[in-house]
Amino acid sequence: MEANPRAARARLIREAAEALGFDLVRITNAEPLPAARRAIEERVALGFFEGMDWFTAERAAVSTDPRALLPTAQSVIALGTFYLTDAPRDLTVPGDPHGQISCYAWGDDYHDVIKARLRQLAARIQRIAADESGDDLAGATRIFVDTGRMVDRAVAERSGLGWFGKHTNILTRDWGSWLFLSEIVTTLDLEPDAAIAANCGHCTTCITACPTGAIVAPQVLDARRCISYLTIEHRGAIPLELRPLMGNLIYGCDICQQVCPVNHIVERRLRARDALGPGSAGETRRAMFVARPDVGASPALLPLLDLDEAGFREQFRHSPILRAKRRGLLRNVCVALGNLGDAVAVPRLARTLRSEPEALVRGHAAWALGMLGGPVAEEALMAASVREAVPEVLGEIGFALALLADQAESV
Ligand code: SF4
Ligand code: SF4
Repeated sequence: MEANPRAARARLIREAAEALGFDLVRITNAEPLPAARRAIEERVALGFFEGMDWFTAERAAVSTDPRALLPTAQSVIALGTFYLTDAPRDLTVPGDPHGQISCYAWGDDYHDVIKARLRQLAARIQRIAADESGDDLAGATRIFVDTGRMVDRAVAERSGLGWFGKHTNILTRDWGSWLFLSEIVTTLDLEPDAAIAANCGHCTTCITACPTGAIVAPQVLDARRCISYLTIEHRGAIPLELRPLMGNLIYGCDICQQVCPVNHIVERRLRARDALGPGSAGETRRAMFVARPDVGASPALLPLLDLDEAGFREQFRHSPILRAKRRGLLRNVCVALGNLGDAVAVPRLARTLRSEPEALVRGHAAWALGMLGGPVAEEALMAASVREAVPEVLGEIGFALALLADQAESV
């Protein structure tokens, strides 16, 4: 063992993590993160996490204290895994409407990929501790990957992995913000890394680019307005005033990351090093995050309306998209079709309004028909207004018919 055993252990862990495919590895102590706790409590009080029932003040207390998760913890290892790969983001052409999927969800579910790596790294940590102490039970660990049980961004910031971008994601010099964050809390005493002195400066590009105004202040997100939240976590109807702002984003939203100049610099540099782009060495290494043929970055929208529950589960097996559930994804597809304005979708939306079993989807199909307009859409809405029994869907139909009346008046 080297003169400084904490540094020696940290070096062994860093090497093991890099060998397992983690792109960034930093270490911090296991002290609580009081600023993160205050920030969560404030945002819960302001209602910014409304609808995410798991975000409570109690959760804030636990997720910001590594020792609440592992009482004898001494260190937290913060890990970053770069996931960006290349694919055409929007394949929409007249007569063939397509949606857009956030690029973290193009491939296999990162929870599964990262968790498998974390388990291997945790085993390595236990071996290091056992070799040193002679105790096979030394080196306890807890692993976390984007479950909200640990404040991953606050840990990443304190460990020097990156800084808080104004878009609320962690930004790094080498990989931008296209990172899956994960952590290992351990009883092993490790030399901590220092936080980095970097910030966004005067840039506000992401704040002005956000289509729904969800970044209400630097580093403060009102999740209720964020397209990522609305398309993935939100279970009910999408607020009427936000639907037209969602474009054809059907699962997640990358806009605030796509416009970020730090990400632009990183992407240029990676392309020059053959670490980004189809067929590049980097994408071969990240093959599990490359767009799957059955998911795609920009799937055709109309066939998605044909998916029944079994078909949805089959098509999106091992994909993060399962999280939205079938009814959430089809709801988003209807909104995208309404926004794209392509009349080719009218007959399929009319069928959805007539025979789709989920009221939530029928309601959003009605809205889309109202947006698209025309005699076939109007006929479908009128017929549904007589047949439909669910009050929420009837409300959507009434709103859609009012949209059509407005359109007729303005011609
Ligand atoms: S993910 Fe999209 S909607 Fe959410 S803050 Fe970023 S740009 Fe706005
Ligand atoms: S767009 Fe500008 S303000 Fe927003 S995260 Fe990137 S550098 Fe920071």
